Amino acid sequence: MNKEEALSFYKQYRDKCNAYQLAETTIFFDMSTIAPENGNDYRIKMMSLLGGEAYDYQTAPENIEKLEEMSKLDLGDVMNEEIRQVLKDLHRISKLPRDFYIYMQELSAKGEIAWKKAKKEKDYSLFKDVLKELVEMRKKAYDYYGYDKTLYDAMLDDYETGMTIEKYDNFFACIKERLVPFIKKLEKEGKKIDDHPLHQTFEIEGQEKVMDILKDYMNFNPKECYMGLSAHPFTCSFSLHDVRITNKYIENSLVSSIFTIIHEYGHALYMMHVDEKLEGLYVSGSMTSGMHESQSRFLENYIGKRKSFWVNNFSKVKEIFPEQLKNIAFDDFMEMINVVQPSLIRTEADELTYPLHILVRYELEKEMINGNIDIDHLDQIWADKYEDYLGIRPQDASEGILQDIHWSDGSFGYFPTYALGSAFGAQFFKAMQKDLDVDVALASNHFSLIEDWLREHIHQYGALYKADEIIEKVCHEPFDPNVYIDYLIDKFSNIYGI
Ligand SMILES: [Zn+2]
Repeated sequence: MNKEEALSFYKQYRDKCNAYQLAETTIFFDMSTIAPENGNDYRIKMMSLLGGEAYDYQTAPENIEKLEEMSKLDLGDVMNEEIRQVLKDLHRISKLPRDFYIYMQELSAKGEIAWKKAKKEKDYSLFKDVLKELVEMRKKAYDYYGYDKTLYDAMLDDYETGMTIEKYDNFFACIKERLVPFIKKLEKEGKKIDDHPLHQTFEIEGQEKVMDILKDYMNFNPKECYMGLSAHPFTCSFSLHDVRITNKYIENSLVSSIFTIIHEYGHALYMMHVDEKLEGLYVSGSMTSGMHESQSRFLENYIGKRKSFWVNNFSKVKEIFPEQLKNIAFDDFMEMINVVQPSLIRTEADELTYPLHILVRYELEKEMINGNIDIDHLDQIWADKYEDYLGIRPQDASEGILQDIHWSDGSFGYFPTYALGSAFGAQFFKAMQKDLDVDVALASNHFSLIEDWLREHIHQYGALYKADEIIEKVCHEPFDPNVYIDYLIDKFSNIYGI
């Protein structure tokens, strides 16, 4: 096979994979937003048929063989990396014996059902046995895949290429040593901020108008991006010119839909800004979850919670809710949206305490995979850690260990990327400030300057580079968790006057 033949084969192969993917994404988005519930059974049957066909085509031995041949050719930097990533994924899937693969699917489904029931009944004992099975199942899967360092290292690397236990240990040690005592100090010595005024009744119609203000401010282009509603907000890409986000309105919270749209739009920009030259390639959409969160949390926290972001927008929001906001001055509003309140639920955590939620999960997960922890009593160990780090104790398992879905299908190694993304964001923000007066840009309604910087320095590359390569390229220094911790301590010392 010469280079020309290789590229022409690949174009056909990729196009067909993308066609399946587009169909699956479309059905998924429809199902998560507007599809009537009673159609679920039929839809799931048809989806699994389509998924099976896509799987068979992708992993057909003759296709893998050609891809392997391609991996020996020099196709240029972009295509070399493309083929490397595609093959890595395919080898992964095709190394599992068919019946083990089916067992994995079944156990994940069983895990999710057990988790839902246990969560509903607030009873961890209904979940612990299947959790043990899930840990064993993942261990066995990695035996098939093969790995170099330890098992948990391999799992971490799967969710964020290049990350290891050693790197995460270092990262979480910073959080533990510097952030935990700081939060305790802030609680004791910081001023009191009451954000109740943001939790009055804010009618949905009004919140919709707030979304229009934000869309307008962030140059949301309805010809390329669409916002729907779903129970759990998410973002997905159909192509470089068609990205969908979802949001959720909560009547007694003004800020929930606001920071959800900003967060999801951060994901969306990443997907829309990938270089046209990468259109249709695997690397245009295979960014890691840590990198993705670095972009969504960047927009949500580093940009969306700044005074300069709100200096022109707050008065517009006030016009929509004049009754509710009449006694709230701009500075009060800024304090309220940055309130720190140690809480039990990760997804509702504030910017400062958020990484502590991940610290708990990381420590437990690591010991669980290394076999050093008593899974039977994991709910109590979880509660102890919350008490230790956040000073609050869950009263039952549903607001404790059972709150997140991730472990119920065996996704071990995923959680740490959430905190990592925030930390990457801090370093990107520091780099952006060297090139750009962020506050002038935001206060003068030039959000496009922020967008352009992100496109030029990060988004355009898609998944061509690993996170640590991008950080080096953009920040001219290696990943350093202290940048993140410094940022947090500095920001919240100011707000809380300590
Ligand atoms: Zn996100």
